[in-house]
Amino acid sequence: MYKIAVAGTGYVGLVAGVCFAEVGHQVTCVDIDEVKVELMKSGKAPIHETGLEELMQKNYASGRLDYTIDFKSAYKDADAIFIGVGTPEQPDGSANLSYIATVARQIAESVEKDCLVVVKSTVPVGTNDKVEQFIQDFLVNDVRVEVASNPEFLAQGSAVHDTLHAERIIIGTESEWAEQVLKGIYDPFNLPIVSVNRRSAEMIKYASNDFLALKISYMNDIANLCELVGADIQDVAKGMSFDSRIGGKFLNAGIGYGGSCFPKDTKALENLAKQNNYELKTVKAAIDVNQDQKTKLYKKASKRLITFSGLKVAVLGLTFKPGTDDLREAASLENVPLLLEQGADIYAYDPIGAENFARVHPEGKNGKGTITYVSNIDHALDGANVCFIFTEWGEVKAVTPETYKKSMRTPLVYDGRNIYNVEEMLQAGVEYYSIGRKPITREVLMEAKTLELH
Ligand code: NAD
Repeated sequence: MYKIAVAGTGYVGLVAGVCFAEVGHQVTCVDIDEVKVELMKSGKAPIHETGLEELMQKNYASGRLDYTIDFKSAYKDADAIFIGVGTPEQPDGSANLSYIATVARQIAESVEKDCLVVVKSTVPVGTNDKVEQFIQDFLVNDVRVEVASNPEFLAQGSAVHDTLHAERIIIGTESEWAEQVLKGIYDPFNLPIVSVNRRSAEMIKYASNDFLALKISYMNDIANLCELVGADIQDVAKGMSFDSRIGGKFLNAGIGYGGSCFPKDTKALENLAKQNNYELKTVKAAIDVNQDQKTKLYKKASKRLITFSGLKVAVLGLTFKPGTDDLREAASLENVPLLLEQGADIYAYDPIGAENFARVHPEGKNGKGTITYVSNIDHALDGANVCFIFTEWGEVKAVTPETYKKSMRTPLVYDGRNIYNVEEMLQAGVEYYSIGRKPITREVLMEAKTLELH
């Protein structure tokens, strides 16, 4: 059993802390946000993650898990301090390391015994070296502090499962001692461990995330070409997926990736390359394709409708993906302001993301348009002139093609997640545009009707 402190209780820090407690370590989670700390002490999770609250309550009750804003008491006698604070994007694309630097300084001023500082946040290659130097510079007591890298690979929406059943644990260390401490901490998880040096560990995280972003952008690029040449991206993806060299995951075309990681991690790696006088052409292409992809359907709809002014627009899904209430870099955040700017009367549905979205766009008048948050999809679709699908929530997938035809004033659907079968939408009489597949235009619908009459 190790005595562990975790700095930052976001998706990474809190889930790591809870899972460390679950496997038997003594854990204190530290955050600067007092409200959040009080909420966690009351057994509530500040983020939406399956299974998280149950484990928080169980381990808090057993005394293995605690929360505090008092970093000094948490850090002073910890065997290991994990850093899981944010590394957000700066205007030039580089990672903002100020939160990491603050924690490093707090650690240097607090530790009273030898300890391993573990950077879990995603940081540019070389940051661990800087953190170690920084801590040495500010260290108050005569103790040994070493820094190790342990990047996180969880996916939001399945964070607890991904942590307890990770496909691999990457540890980047510069000494036998640091490697042994980290291996000891992860031993109860019984997972494959890949042990490398610190810089390689830092790079593994970016290289992995950016590879996935590239895969998505590649499929979106191919999808756009499919539309032009009459191929179907879903059939193409299916055909590709049987090739084990390619793999079946991350082949879904759509309106681009979002979230707190892919957008910022692609830009950060591109920026790191630039700083080293190298142009990372592949990653740059992934970023460019993604940027264009996000408003692709809006642009198509603009052409079709000329203006959104006074139209009832149903928006289904606001979060960047299902299973989370996180909106960071979500397609909705790009498209909703464009619709509002045009005077749209938006009715937005999201099973858990609406509250967060309302903080950015409060209910009621928003510039030239209005936005209303509804708790059921029928309410959004009833009498709507057009519908946009931004997130593939189960609740949205459950809406039948016939419902669009029956409920909407004009059954016109722009599906950014390729939820529906094109033929079924055609049969139901829905004008339907998706990504990389045959569009069901008004002409196609009319032709189908004529054929039916004959
Ligand atoms: P987050 O923004 O959800 O949480 C960060 C937390 O750190 C906040 O609660 C904040 O109050 C707290 N904090 C800030 N300064 C602090 C300090 N001095 N002491 C203690 N707490 C402090 O962040 P996140 O999404 O968990 O991401 C954290 C890091 O992990 C980032 O580098 C991110 O790129 C990386 N990462 C994120 C994911 C993900 O899916 N979210 C996955 C893998 C890696």
